[in-house]
Amino acid sequence: MKKYVFVTGGVCSSLGKGIAAASLGSLMECRGLRIRIVKVDPYINVDAGTMSPYQHGEVYVTDDGAETDLDLGNYARFTQSSLSKASSITTGQVYQEVIQREREGRYLGRTVQVIPHITDRIKQRILAVGEQSDVDLTIVEIGGTVGDIESVPFLEAARQMIHELGHENVLSVHLTLIPETAGGELKTKPTQHSVKELREIGIQPDVLLCRAPAQLDDDMRRKIALFTNVDFDAVFSAADVSKTIYEIPLMFHAQKMDEIILDRLKVPYGEADLDGWSRVVGVFQSSGPIVRIAVVGKYIDLNDSYKSVDEALYHGGVANDVRVELVKMDSEKLEKLDDLGEAFSGIDGILVPGGFGSRGIDGMIRTAQYARENNVPYLGICLGMQVMVIEYARNVVGLADADSTEFAPECEHPVVSLLEEQVDVKNYGGTMRLGASTSVLVEGTQLREVYGTATVSERHRHRYEVANKYRYRLAAAGLIVAAVTADDALVESVQWSRHDWGIGVQFHPEFKSKPIDAHPLFASFIAASLGRTGVKDAAERVASSA
Ligand code: GLN
Repeated sequence: MKKYVFVTGGVCSSLGKGIAAASLGSLMECRGLRIRIVKVDPYINVDAGTMSPYQHGEVYVTDDGAETDLDLGNYARFTQSSLSKASSITTGQVYQEVIQREREGRYLGRTVQVIPHITDRIKQRILAVGEQSDVDLTIVEIGGTVGDIESVPFLEAARQMIHELGHENVLSVHLTLIPETAGGELKTKPTQHSVKELREIGIQPDVLLCRAPAQLDDDMRRKIALFTNVDFDAVFSAADVSKTIYEIPLMFHAQKMDEIILDRLKVPYGEADLDGWSRVVGVFQSSGPIVRIAVVGKYIDLNDSYKSVDEALYHGGVANDVRVELVKMDSEKLEKLDDLGEAFSGIDGILVPGGFGSRGIDGMIRTAQYARENNVPYLGICLGMQVMVIEYARNVVGLADADSTEFAPECEHPVVSLLEEQVDVKNYGGTMRLGASTSVLVEGTQLREVYGTATVSERHRHRYEVANKYRYRLAAAGLIVAAVTADDALVESVQWSRHDWGIGVQFHPEFKSKPIDAHPLFASFIAASLGRTGVKDAAERVASSA
């Protein structure tokens, strides 16, 4: 029998439901289960592709080109769950599908209603994932907070599934908050209310994850259990972690969460192997060297805008047994400085991530120039690669008016432009290149050495491309083309010659990096950054940063 776990959240948003669901998934995998995780987003947007990174954080892209909520990135980092369009369900999609069917006359004249038609469609979408032959357990994270109007149809679908498939096949896990008063007292009332609200919808939670400043003592757990009708042994603490979110699987495991959940689901399980997580956490908790990386972008005000990039940099640190400290810099602010040397003093490596629109571009171009001229390790991702190309064309090739047509449609030298503006290239399809495609790594390049393979599959999310018209001119001047599409039609990566480590990639390697298995590009970038300054001693680094 296939198993399902619904993860809901109460009291307020941003309690870390995504990470809780991902950590639970990881523990299930450590016990030998094959899992999938599905995110339900109760908003009307069909997908996250049109949402501003300011409001919603990063858009996570899957192999099949779905533009999703950043929680899918958490699932990718914590688990092996394969993620695709099917892993992200929004209200917008469900209504669109139901309305489409209605237009096709498939409801045979019946009145189409939220219950049963919308809820049936939600259940079908979840079951389509969970019933696959290579899946034992599906975790469904329901976005939003219990009590929101928007999430009602999804909670109703969960209620029906619990009823139809039975309590030993479908479990309800509720994440809630235990706030602390100014006097340092932990309060259970909001949790009691949140569970009450869930029960009004017809869902009795089986497991409670209580977000609290510290571990709850047994008296507190007993009290919560009594008021919420949840068994004492199923009330868990989700205490704030000290160094990294990657402590969470270990923290849940220490409370036997995996055993209790699997016992309830009547699933036999083996010994858990959490060595990988212990190693990851060990690096974050160590007092060893710190590598300081500047991330120069335009969406730095919101912490989650470059979530996968940030995490991949940390993973690169884990691969090298060093801690990574990120210094977020607003590229627009850098534009105002005469000398970037000061801004980058004490920085070991520079990363320019992806982005859209012209604001802050000059700051990124100057950042690329600074890194190139001062031999600072530089990783340019998507837009970060495009600014490398513009900078090189301007300052090395001598094309003063080189630009991207995204920022300067009328420029004299459009070294980055839309495919339709490039007469010699066939149309590649839609307006945005989305999802995975294969790149061929050019022999003899650093990129090929880093990957150790002749081809790679990486994900894309961009409209503009390096203009082929300039490709050979740039290469002749020393901007090495390090990767191309399989048909050689498009540039996928460039690399500075006469530089120790300066690589730009048109794709997004950050989406595939895991703490336990760092992406080779990030591992190599951190190694280069560590090597450059030669600060290997922690005490020295701490002293130099003081
Ligand atoms: N704005 C650029 C493009 O559309 C880069 C996109 C990105 O960095 N994801 O090509």
